Amino acid sequence: MSEHPRYSIVAPIYNEEGNIQKLYERVSQVMDSTGESWELVTVNDGSRDKSFEMLEALSHKDPRIKVINFARNFGHQLAVTAGLHNTSGNAVVVIDADLQDPPELILDMIERWKAGYQVVYAVRQERKGESWFKLFTAKMFYRIIYRITDVDIPLDTGDFRLMDRKVVDALNSMPEHNRFIRGLTSWIGFKQTGITYVREAREWGETKYPLKKMVRFAMDAVTGFSYFPLQVMVYVAFILGVLGVFAIPIIAILRLILGFQFLGGQVTNIIVMLLVGSFQLFFLFILGQYVARIYDETRGRPLYIVADMVGFDGPKNKPSEPETKAALEPQAER
Ligand code: UDP
Ligand code: MG
Repeated sequence: MSEHPRYSIVAPIYNEEGNIQKLYERVSQVMDSTGESWELVTVNDGSRDKSFEMLEALSHKDPRIKVINFARNFGHQLAVTAGLHNTSGNAVVVIDADLQDPPELILDMIERWKAGYQVVYAVRQERKGESWFKLFTAKMFYRIIYRITDVDIPLDTGDFRLMDRKVVDALNSMPEHNRFIRGLTSWIGFKQTGITYVREAREWGETKYPLKKMVRFAMDAVTGFSYFPLQVMVYVAFILGVLGVFAIPIIAILRLILGFQFLGGQVTNIIVMLLVGSFQLFFLFILGQYVARIYDETRGRPLYIVADMVGFDGPKNKPSEPETKAALEPQAER
């Protein structure tokens, strides 16, 4: 049985056929320059293009490349999770497959790791080739998360980071379904440090994070690490309550002075009902977000379903999730 590699690189892949060759070249060039052993664990997250075939071919050519093939698209965070479950390096680096995260930075991360840090995360100093909408929402997102969560999640930091084996083991021991990995990594603790970099534009193709996925991702981040949306309800309840109590004498007096037409009629009722109804439904929605996640946990489904594992040697390198091969028809992507 082969020795464990010193470094594992994890790359989630969803329709990245135009990036795979370049990713392989740049990662292997950088990693070879360390003079130490490494593996590249790719997770094909239900791609509908040639990504899987390309990864498989690479793996046959270079046994350091491994492929976990999902039965369907489970999403970026779960793809990274599956990768982490199946690494064996002393240090593990998570990197995007579109080369927005320059592999060359891994060398700096390794240096910090060797200096004693267990997590080295990459902070985006500048982002190239992104729409103003993405830049704005991302900036707001990191700042809001920072304010309302109980853990200090570093600003402008994605999943591009190096983690020590101990940190990866700790992450792997967390069974939660709606995973916000950068939050979980902060929550774990250990000695962490950041290095800044310029985030390049995508090498090829388009973002795989449409608005819908971004919103879901943000909800996972908030519900996973903060009770603030639940607790803020008490302030609204208090304000509306106080308004209601004071309204009684004030309106009574004003009506005595101005006559009974004051604030009478349907219109004011309708407006107040719509406003209060909207508040209530909004908070029900928030509550629902937490309840849905409790439901996700209680069902206890596996986090993801693996269709194939390529390049992993034998049963020793067992996947952490039960492998359900044949029976599963690949489901249509939502
Ligand atoms: N990705 C994935 N599953 C998804 C969406 C994205 O595995 O459902 C991968 C994608 O292939 C890429 C990484 O996650 O390697 C980051 O995605 P993307 O570059 O689209 O996000 P952005 O950089 O635009 O935020
Ligand atoms: Mg990208």
